[in-house]
Amino acid sequence: MTQHGPVLPLWLCEACDRPWPCPPRRDELLGEYADVSPSLTLYMGTCLVSARQDMSWAPPDTLRLRFLGWIP
Ligand SMILES: [Zn+2]
Repeated sequence: MTQHGPVLPLWLCEACDRPWPCPPRRDELLGEYADVSPSLTLYMGTCLVSARQDMSWAPPDTLRLRFLGWIP
């Protein structure tokens, strides 16, 4: 179980206080979804939809990069 979960509605990491997914969480996710990267994209896409609703003030491109831009 990760320590690096998101605190809503700001989507900050509860462990390191950085924008979620923080770098440690990204590493964890890449490991967890190593063999099923389409599922990771799907999961992060779901998070992105929620984050857009929670942070309607944030530029959509910034959110998209933050949630999806780091997935290989
Ligand atoms: Zn973190």
